[in-house]
Amino acid sequence: MDSQFHEKLWGGAHMRQFGYDLPSEKTGEYWAISGHKNGVSTVKNGEFRGVTLDSLYENNPELFGNPTSKVFPLLTKILDANDWLSVQVHPDDAYARAHEGENELGKTECWYVISAEPGAEIIYGHTAKTREELAEMIHAGAWEKLLTKIPVKTGDFFYVPSGTMHAIGAGCLILETQQSSDTTYRVYDFDRPDVNGKLRELHIQQSIDTLSVPGNKLPENQTTTVTKGATEITTLTENEFFDVYKWRVSGSSYFEKTDNYVLVSVLSGEGNLRVAEKNYEIKRGDHFILPSTVRDFYITSLETLEMIVSNPAVSELKKIVSQ
Ligand code: ZN
Repeated sequence: MDSQFHEKLWGGAHMRQFGYDLPSEKTGEYWAISGHKNGVSTVKNGEFRGVTLDSLYENNPELFGNPTSKVFPLLTKILDANDWLSVQVHPDDAYARAHEGENELGKTECWYVISAEPGAEIIYGHTAKTREELAEMIHAGAWEKLLTKIPVKTGDFFYVPSGTMHAIGAGCLILETQQSSDTTYRVYDFDRPDVNGKLRELHIQQSIDTLSVPGNKLPENQTTTVTKGATEITTLTENEFFDVYKWRVSGSSYFEKTDNYVLVSVLSGEGNLRVAEKNYEIKRGDHFILPSTVRDFYITSLETLEMIVSNPAVSELKKIVSQ
């Protein structure tokens, strides 16, 4: 994929470790696999070279299990936080459709922490018991009392359903898997000006409407790991929108898959992917899709490969197809 970088006031330059040519020292986001109009990816090689992912999804549905939906449902991002991101919340599908346009999805997201500096934190959830109390504390700016901070370390995983109050803190480099959506309601932005000296817009009413009350609690860590030959597969989440796994390949492995397509992000190492007698070099920083038409493949590592692998939830695909 050829994909887009987004400059952010909280961004940095840590993504150079993936070999990327960054446009700025404040690069906050890389929309690594995206069909969203605000930063769409383009296929880099093969027979669909130069085609954007949104039109590929629409015009070649056989690659994606023939969905009836016209919108590529997932978005994979890398986030480099050198300062707090805004404290925010995302709507669910129904609210996004009603208020942001027919093709805009809600946003349930999740974070795999590629690296975290000592002392790094996130905000997850809030302490208000009722919506009235929530509105009161927001209007009063009682952030210390309202927001729940949690320490973060390398390798952590967080599931962040729509409606969750959240923010990523300084020193976190994160691989995010999310529904394809660009709707963010800012609750609080630390009263800091952007490069033009302006405060970024807040969305207080939408936030109060969409925040879950009481606040979402961090789910217990439910990851499980199985080893199959040279590959260790950790299940990070299987939810109503997507499944996310971590694959660690040291050696050579044969894989069989269903007709669901999968998104792959290589976080470290290098090696070879072999699909239908064709070999592809893969290395840290690469992102690719194994389409529905690929039913088996081999991966061989030269240096241990660590990858985040995701797919749209099968139940979701079935639901769409049967409508
Ligand atoms: Zn978010």
